[in-house]
Amino acid sequence: MAYADMPLPIGAGATISAPHMHAIMLDLAASRIQSGSHVLDVGSGSGYCTAVFAEMLRAAPGGAGRGKVYGIDHVAPLVEQSRANIRGHDPTMLESGLVELIVGDGRRGYHPGAPYQVIHVGAMVEDIIPQPFLEQLAPGGRLIVPVQGMLMTIDNTAEPTNEPAPSTEQLFAHTNALGVPTVAFPTHRFYTESHMGVAFVPLTDLAEQTSGRTRPTRILWMGF
Ligand code: SAH
Repeated sequence: MAYADMPLPIGAGATISAPHMHAIMLDLAASRIQSGSHVLDVGSGSGYCTAVFAEMLRAAPGGAGRGKVYGIDHVAPLVEQSRANIRGHDPTMLESGLVELIVGDGRRGYHPGAPYQVIHVGAMVEDIIPQPFLEQLAPGGRLIVPVQGMLMTIDNTAEPTNEPAPSTEQLFAHTNALGVPTVAFPTHRFYTESHMGVAFVPLTDLAEQTSGRTRPTRILWMGF
């Protein structure tokens, strides 16, 4: 099973993403990871992606472990499991503070580590992108997020703008309409791109996820 390129169950209604999907997500993040970067991994699950982000920080020029990766997941036993996984890989990641694992609702982002050069969301946004993701994205940073069956990147281009801030509903209207490249948000301009259709565990309430009810991902952008 460990060699299959498919998602595998890790408990609590979650799956570890397929290796090719991790590769795609990490590749989309790579250009933003520099020495000293802060990375937020929302829905960190197994901790695999969190650990790879930490290795990417170490490998960044001048890196030497500067910067920090925050992994957040709302299922406490999964966070414990990810802690054990990462400790098994390299205990210094946790001991040095290069990696911090948090139990919490990732839809609020994680304010103490903001702003982030990369916010990676390993779960599917089913309605609108949570506002904290945009608020906590550093100028020049990138949000990588599956939204309604579509893998999106949203870049904070750091360009000043006087345009009024859009609501997340307006942002979503833009991100959902292929070919609409920019939206404005308080003082920065965001550039959005759609990459490919994807399936993910939903970014949802803890009760909903652990209720045992199975629920297919709604894929609205294709109209079914
Ligand atoms: N990248 C992870 C993906 C795990 S699946 C991996 O490959 O292991 C998605 C994860 O998102 C699950 O662990 C689930 O518990 C978590 N999740 C879903 N909604 C969440 C929320 N509101 N806050 C935090 N984590 C959430």
